[in-house]
Parts: sequence; C-alpha cells; structure tokens
Amino acid sequence: MNNLINKIFSKRYTFFYLANFVGILLVSASIFSALMLARHQAEEKEISRLDSLNANVLERMQKTSEQFAHTVKSLSMFPPDQACSEASIGSMQQIAISGGLLQAIGYLKDNQFACSSQAGILNGLDLGTPGIVEPGGVRVWVDITLPKAPGRKYLVIERNGYAAVLLPIDAVDFYASPNTSIGLFDIKSRFFYTSKGLIKAEWIRAYQGGVEPAFIDEKKEYLVSIRPSPSGKTAVLAAIPTSEISRSVLGFAQILIPLGIFFALGLSAIIIYLARHRYSAKSELAAALKNDEFYLEYQPIIDLRTKACIGAEALVRWRQSDGTLVRPDLFIPLAEESGLIRQITKHVLDLITRDMAELLRRYPDFHLGINLSSADLQSEETVQLLETMISEIGPGKGRFVIEATERGFLNDGVAQKVVNSIRNLGMQVAIDDFGTGYSSLSYLTKFELDFLKIDKTFVDVVGTDAVTSHVAFHIIEMAKSLNLKMVAEGIETETQAAILLERGVVYVQGWLFAKSMSPQDLMAYVDSH
Ligand code: C2E
Ligand code: MG
Ligand code: MG
Repeated sequence: MNNLINKIFSKRYTFFYLANFVGILLVSASIFSALMLARHQAEEKEISRLDSLNANVLERMQKTSEQFAHTVKSLSMFPPDQACSEASIGSMQQIAISGGLLQAIGYLKDNQFACSSQAGILNGLDLGTPGIVEPGGVRVWVDITLPKAPGRKYLVIERNGYAAVLLPIDAVDFYASPNTSIGLFDIKSRFFYTSKGLIKAEWIRAYQGGVEPAFIDEKKEYLVSIRPSPSGKTAVLAAIPTSEISRSVLGFAQILIPLGIFFALGLSAIIIYLARHRYSAKSELAAALKNDEFYLEYQPIIDLRTKACIGAEALVRWRQSDGTLVRPDLFIPLAEESGLIRQITKHVLDLITRDMAELLRRYPDFHLGINLSSADLQSEETVQLLETMISEIGPGKGRFVIEATERGFLNDGVAQKVVNSIRNLGMQVAIDDFGTGYSSLSYLTKFELDFLKIDKTFVDVVGTDAVTSHVAFHIIEMAKSLNLKMVAEGIETETQAAILLERGVVYVQGWLFAKSMSPQDLMAYVDSH
C-alpha cells in the first residue's frame, strides 16, 4: 500500500525530498548561526574581560593620584622653610607607609631631593629636568633608577616641591597574566609609563583618546582594548591573543550547537508534521474533490447476440492538477482507507446525474453500472444518495445496476439491509470481480442478487490451454444455477466472445468492443450501436 501511495502521490514524494532538504538546511543554518553566535559571545566575553582589567588599572591610578593630591595638600601646611623639618619628615614617613602605590615621599630643591621618607636612598638624588611638565604645575620624571634597586624603573611626580616616588609596574603588574598584555601610556606623547607583556606600537598609533570600541589588530593576532583615564591624559591598554577568543568560542559552541540542532530538528519535525498532514492521502483526495479533479468515463456493455450497446459501466477517473492520470484501483483503496470513499461515491452519483440524464431520457432501457465500495454498502445513507439520483434522472425499471465486490457482501448485517433497500428502489445488484476476493460463497444464499460479473482474469484464459481455462465455465454454470444474469469483463478477442456466447454469456464489456469513453462519445457510440 505504501508503494501505491508513493506512486500516486508523486507530489508527496517531492515534498518529502523538500522536507528533508529543509531539515538539512535548517540544521546547517542553525550550526552556522550557533557558531556565529558562539564567536560573538566569546568576543563579547573577552572584550568585557579586557574592559574590566582596564577599569581596575584606571581605578588604581585614580586612587594614587588622589593620594598624591592629598599628600601635597597635607604637607603644604609646612611653610617652605620647614619643608624638611622633623615634623614634615615624620608626616612623609607616615604617608609612605600607608600610601599604597606611593613608595616614598620627599621634598625637592632644584630637582634634587633635599629630604625624604627614605633619607638613605633618596636624599641628594638629582632628578635632572623633568620628562613631563603638566599645565597644573605637576612635573613628572620617568625611568628613574634608584641606588640599591637596579633594573627597576621608578616614576617621580612633584607639585609645590613635594614629590612622590612610585613604581608604575605596580599599577599593572597585579592584573597582568601570562596571556594578557597591559600597559599605561601618555596619550599625547605615546610614552609608556609601564607595561607588561607584548605591546605593539601600532595598536596605539591611531588612538586619539576617548572611549573607542575594542578591536582586533591588523594581523588578527590580538584583541585590543584601550581606555582613557578620567583626566584624559593617560590611557590603559589591555590585549589578549585572539587564540583566547577561539578557546572561548569552543566553550560557547559546545552549548550553542547542540541547542541549535535541537531547535532545528524540532522545527523540521513541525514542518514535516504539517506537510504530512497537508499531503496525507486524505487531504490529497479531499483537495481533489474540492478542485473537481474527478470525472467519469463510461465503458459500453454489449449484447453479444445483436452487438448492440445495451448499457455502460461508469468508471471514475482522477486527473491531478499537473495532468497526471491516477488509476481508480490505486486511489479507490486509499479513499476507502482514509474514509473519503463515501464523499467520492456521492460525487460519482452527482456526476452520473449530470452526464447521463439526457442519454437515459433518449434510451430509457439503457443499463448503467455503478460501482460502490464495501464501505458504501455499510451505510444506509447510500440508499438516500441513490434515491436523490433517481429523483433527478427518473427511476426506469432495472436501469441502474449497482456493482459491488464480494468484500461488500462480507458484513451481511447492514449490507443485506442496504442491498434490499437498493433493490426496493428498483435497482439491480451485481457481484463485481466474482471469484477474485472473498473465499466463502455463503453470501450468495443470503443476498438477493441480479448479476454476476465474470472477472477479466478468468476471461483472459478462456480458449487457452491454461489450467484455469475452465474456471470461467464453472462460474457460468454456478450463475445459471443461482439464476443470476452474467456480464463478462475484459473481452479482448473474438475467440473469447464466441466461446462465452456459446456458453450462454450474453452481456460483455471489453476492449474488443470499446474502451471507456467520455459521456459525449458514449452518446455517439450508443446512437450508432
Ligand atoms: P471494475 O469495476 O471491475 O471495472 C472494470 C475494469 O476493467 C475497468 O478498469 C476497465 O477499464 C477495465 N477493463 C474493461 N475492459 C477491459 C479490457 O478489455 N482489457 C483491460 N485490460 N481492461 C479492461 P478501471 O476503470 O481501471 O477500474 C478499476 C476498478 O476501479 C474497477 O474495476 C472498480 O472496482 C473500481 N472503480 C472504478 N470506478 C469506480 C467508482 O466509481 N466507484 C468505486 N467504488 N470503484 C470504482
Ligand atoms: Mg465494476
Ligand atoms: Mg470487475
């Protein structure tokens, strides 16, 4: 059955390819977006790490400059001639002990330490001309080496003669790590007071001061963030190798990719579910009904004795919107399975009413075979549908022959009632495809029937030396003994026709005489036969 479905619903096939394609696309897209997102998240994380490093360094610097201002203010209460008094030096020592980054305090005369909290080291030290002179009267000496501390670069700031000695590396040392470069520089002169780790001159070449977004350097090796101090004179630079970002990406990707795939699969499942629904046999058939894709063809039934066309069998056809013709033995079972057969039957009866009204008016004795499925025989509503058809076309005695396969007579309770009602409407009833289905023949005694249709499979072997070539004759004998009229189906050769007539079969249909045709062609066919 699945094969049949696939054969019929080539659209469905296409759809499932499409659904698979969409699924793969969604999963790939979600992996791609997860990676992009992971990359973005990792960058954001590393940037905020650098920013917080910068903020810490700046805060430390701010604190130090406040301490220096405070120091100058408190020592300025000594008049210049007492700047090196015992009390003043005592205060200097006090401040140096609790001064955080301020290592030592002293008093300068002609750029030379006159006195200090560290008399043995600083007193008498000549600083020379200051490296930087700031507008507020602050003077700065950088790269000062002290005796007994070779290799260490000190910085001295002075105002009103009072000077503080600092070790700038202290400002950054605390925050640097093996993978982090950090430096403190003068924005105007690009001079680095101190730095730790690799710092490239090109990173600050374009820096104009102010807050600018973090950036990845030209060689894509480092992520760099620069922040100015509140005074706008100095800035802190922090940098990490981009390999750190990649490591973070991995961390984020491990969470985001499975999450992305999960959502993509969920979304695909929803799409496939909706598609399945949309392209289920039922919805496909329902759409075909709505779009009026079903129509009827009629295959003439011939009286072998006169070769006259005495009737026809209505056979439903389904032409899909793309022009594909679907055979009824493919879609009728699907309609039966999906419960849509009753609607199709109703539609078939409507089509018969439209197609046959005129022909039946012109030929009141014309017999019309109508196929019902077993589900139709299980519903009393079928009788009402047939009644409606009769009321529109006119009854005509024995004019309609209802065909049902043996399976229709299986559940004899309801089916028997329906068959009786059909016969009470003046219609005849035929067993279609006799001998091909239900194995028990007991229904033959329970149902009142009029016709037996000999299936094409038995007709095919008539007149051949196949072992089954005699089955048709047994069926004929049985029909005779049950008082059933016969129609043989699928006559394709003159030999078959001759043998069957000889055996007493009068009515036949088959390609030897005519294939199924449109109602217009049938009218012309009947007119000429
Ligand atoms: P069926 O009622 O036994 O219809 C006879 C089938 O044999 C038709 O096939 C017809 O075209 C085919 N046939 C007739 N003469 C020859 C011949 O000489 N050679 C060959 N090779 N075939 C011949 P079709 O139209 O494909 O219908 C197949 C089956 O579909 C029908 O078998 C019937 O069971 C079902 N069917 C058709 N129309 C309806 C309908 O309106 N309602 C229901 N429930 N079933 C229908
Ligand atoms: Mg039939
Ligand atoms: Mg048949």
